[in-house]
Amino acid sequence: MGETAETLPFFNFSLNKVLALEPDSFKRAKIQIILTVIAFSVIKAMFIMPVAFEYAQYRQFFRAVVVVVLFLGLAKVILYRPSSATVISHIMLLSGLAVIWSNLLVYVQYINIFTVQLIFMIILVSYYLIGGARAAYYTALAILPVVYYYITRHITIGHIPISTQELVPEGSDPVIILNFLTFVASHYLYYRAFHQNLQEKEVLNEQLQKNITEVKALAESRSVFLSTMSHELRTPLNGVIGMVHLLKDTATEEQTDKLDILDFSANNLLSVINDVLDYNKSELDKIDLEALPVNLSVLLGQIYAGLKIKASEKGLNLLLNVDSRLENTRVITDPTRITQVIYNLAGNAIKFTDEGTVKIRLKVISNEGGNIHIRFSVSDTGIGISADRQETIFDPFTQASSDTTRKFGGTGLGLAIVKRLLKLFGSSIHLESQPGEGSAFTFSIKFPVCGEEVKIESDFKTETSDLKGLKLLIVEDNAINVLLLEKLLSKWEIETVVAGNGQEALDKLLTGTFDGILMDIHMPVMDGYTATIAIRALSDPLKASIPIIAITASVSNQLYTKITDVGMQDYINKPFQPNQLCKKLNQVFRLVH
Ligand code: ADP
Repeated sequence: MGETAETLPFFNFSLNKVLALEPDSFKRAKIQIILTVIAFSVIKAMFIMPVAFEYAQYRQFFRAVVVVVLFLGLAKVILYRPSSATVISHIMLLSGLAVIWSNLLVYVQYINIFTVQLIFMIILVSYYLIGGARAAYYTALAILPVVYYYITRHITIGHIPISTQELVPEGSDPVIILNFLTFVASHYLYYRAFHQNLQEKEVLNEQLQKNITEVKALAESRSVFLSTMSHELRTPLNGVIGMVHLLKDTATEEQTDKLDILDFSANNLLSVINDVLDYNKSELDKIDLEALPVNLSVLLGQIYAGLKIKASEKGLNLLLNVDSRLENTRVITDPTRITQVIYNLAGNAIKFTDEGTVKIRLKVISNEGGNIHIRFSVSDTGIGISADRQETIFDPFTQASSDTTRKFGGTGLGLAIVKRLLKLFGSSIHLESQPGEGSAFTFSIKFPVCGEEVKIESDFKTETSDLKGLKLLIVEDNAINVLLLEKLLSKWEIETVVAGNGQEALDKLLTGTFDGILMDIHMPVMDGYTATIAIRALSDPLKASIPIIAITASVSNQLYTKITDVGMQDYINKPFQPNQLCKKLNQVFRLVH
């Protein structure tokens, strides 16, 4: 309403102009009710004035004049400053109370119908115009005279000996009728506002529902787009990474150097794709942490070995300092996600440091009640981060300065993922940094300690000797991937037969004998899921129970449920490293045989 004060001229007499400026239907009704009460009050006073004058009831006459002057003044104010509606409401209610009290004490000295009407009007109008506790005070003050009247009538105290000046019937009858009209008009206006408000809300709700549906569809299509893109990107990358590994076996020294660069670049591209996909998943809170027994000392050793090459290429000193108490301890955690956090932080530390040391440190803070509390820190002697950027670098797609991408590359997603992953671990990251001196990222996690010695997944052997002599059916439509698998498996002395889609696989299985199937999911004619369901329904129990490993580029979280639902044993993600496939095959055939 603030703007209406500026926009309405002082000599505005148009109610329509006032209403046009007020978007809220209840506030519009309030202004209309005020003006209705003012109009009826002025008409009533106009009736009273000549009658009171004729019967020489000067006090009545005087009161009517005051009402006319005061209420016309209020009407002017509200047409100029509608924002003063609440103040005007108070003035009107106070003058109404004054009329009730003066009726009882001065004019009439008992409760007549006119007074009762006025009491009702105060109750009604105070709730419509003001509401809340204040309306309750006005109501109490309006009812109090009645209580006072009945008490004084019975115990005859406090009676004020003044002659009555009750209005003669000629004046009071129209007043009573006009009072009723005021009730009806106020009710009507308030009900109309109520109704309009409901309608407005319905329209808003509809709009909101529409927007929610649109946003959901947008999120869904983004998710679908990312997983399709991942599939499209991962499949050819699988070919690249796999072929590099195969080529390395027969390459000369000079070729090996070049293949190393190719391998490094392909893996880099893979980690960028993984970052984008992971960010998409973690944004939708879809990541479920695994709970596996892990020796953090061993895990950090593996991470260290991976990072060491990068650090020494830059001439940096990479140090790993793990609390000795962790050497013989296994904790329950998700090793993949821990690796991702450390890799991101240490990878950044190496990237943003030109000389000096990058240090990874694990320190036990406490070890009690079956929980071990560990502080992780990754520090460097690199370029550092200025104070004003220390918060924002954790936002997605944000880097410390605009030339970071040009100088160092990167997507600005790494720290955003770290932050979200740590949230899943119930932790948060802390950064201390001085530009030019270096940075230190720290966080602490409480892990449950694993009591019994459980064989962890990474302990599965990766030898190929156990796989020798197996006969596998490769079901894959992508020629490069077929070539890659054939070469890899033949290296491990595994015999292979190829089917280009699910239907072909079924036909080949019916006529041949195999030890297992490597099944792509997305294929023409018949996809991997349908083919598996058909295989599991075969009448020959030996063929129906053949182990099936899915090979997929999909990163959906429901993947594992879906593949086990249709009856597959396990899956491997494309692109895969040869030793991962070897491990998977060992696991599956070890369980089966
Ligand atoms: P990216 O490394 O892909 O750019 P991150 O989210 O991992 O994205 O990091 C965001 C930004 O934070 C980086 O671009 C860099 O400006 C800054 N940053 C992160 N780690 C360090 C570090 N150890 N030293 C200096 N700057 C850092």
